[in-house]
Amino acid sequence: MNKTKARTEWTFRGNGRLLGASAITVRGVLDRVMENLNRDDRRAVVPLGQGDPSSFPCFRTAQVAEDAVVDAVRSAEFNCYAPTVGILPARRAIADHLSRDLPYKLSPDDVYLTIGGTQAIEVIVTALARPGANILLPRPGYPCYVARAALCGLEVRYFDLLPNRGWEVDLERMEDLADANTVAMVIINPGNPCGTVFSYQHLKEIAETARKLGIMVIADEVYDHLAFGDTPFVPMGVFASITPVLTVGSLSKRWIVPGWRLGWVATNDPNGFLKDTGVVESIVGFLNVSPDPTTFVQAAIPQILERTNEEFFLKVLRMLREGADICYDKIQEIPCLACPKRPEGSMFAMVKLNSSLLEDIEDDLDFCVKLAREESVLVLPGMALGMKNWLRITFAVEPSSLEDGLERMKAFCHRHVKKQHTGSIRSLEQYCNL
Ligand SMILES: *Cc1c(COP(=O)(O)O)cnc(C)c1O
Repeated sequence: MNKTKARTEWTFRGNGRLLGASAITVRGVLDRVMENLNRDDRRAVVPLGQGDPSSFPCFRTAQVAEDAVVDAVRSAEFNCYAPTVGILPARRAIADHLSRDLPYKLSPDDVYLTIGGTQAIEVIVTALARPGANILLPRPGYPCYVARAALCGLEVRYFDLLPNRGWEVDLERMEDLADANTVAMVIINPGNPCGTVFSYQHLKEIAETARKLGIMVIADEVYDHLAFGDTPFVPMGVFASITPVLTVGSLSKRWIVPGWRLGWVATNDPNGFLKDTGVVESIVGFLNVSPDPTTFVQAAIPQILERTNEEFFLKVLRMLREGADICYDKIQEIPCLACPKRPEGSMFAMVKLNSSLLEDIEDDLDFCVKLAREESVLVLPGMALGMKNWLRITFAVEPSSLEDGLERMKAFCHRHVKKQHTGSIRSLEQYCNL
């Protein structure tokens, strides 16, 4: 009897490290905003929160990519498990693909296939999380790194991206931030959430700073080549002779197939700095205890990388440039919002919210919640990215939908602007310009 009673005091508990995890992911915060959508609004929801344009017909992936996957399934040769690091033809195709932009050649052994860029982040962060270590992350940044570091017990330190310097990295402060236990810094280029593309010179300075600190650079290039402004995309691997670089890549964004779940880690290390550090062995160790990306998607990689035609990429770039321009120009017309820089890459713009001009809006989260409720428009509050009173807007949306969404945001702001200001909207706009 006593024994049974004792058993009702359960021994198990949820993992404390996971309890707060949803609060610091894009999906978790957007779910909170989405709970406020008004079901009675007959208008379509305009999704400017998550960067996933795959549901718009104008963003459909390349036909050769679809054919490659279908062929791989139909061949019945890829119903098997794959090797832990990925199948050789796929690794070779990715190595060749990346090498086209590098001053040295990657070998298939430098490439590890992962379940999207997300698992690539998990692999790298876990591989580096020795006790006491810390990692430098950009603010604003991509919350997945924060969540993953928290799960591994890796300390996070933030460096700023500077809005008044075109969102470049605050390199001057980096040296104060790092110490002997700092292992790496993360650079996202083209940038999520700022839509920036770093110049060759700035990337070189980043590599030199990392070298000085004795740390590696983790280059998140899941938006590689999605650069449509004046600054061309340069992979961080170009500077890997200065400091070692681990590149995070993915099919998700450039081919607009985030559901295919295929990404990679590439080790860029022509001088062999990583030798004897155990980093590569840790990556392989991690992959050995993890599931692999779907084998038939791996098998489709060579065809996808070698045969996707230039027209597809140009069309995507044209759509993104058009979206970025619509977004940037429209924001100029909205009181209380300001965008410090016209986006040149990726799928996002960071927009400053001046909530003091609004009557009943407390902060960015409140803005997004009420915008969802009143206008059925979804936008990500900056607090999810470590930037209170900013908003992240994706412009990778079918143009008429994007215009509709921004028009509704404008109506929303006009409706909520403080009454004593309604007569002077023009000067308010000027006031908001950073
Ligand atoms: C989308 C994204 C990822 C994750 O890529 P998936 O292939 O979708 O898992 C990683 N980093 C950044 C900056 C992203 O925007």
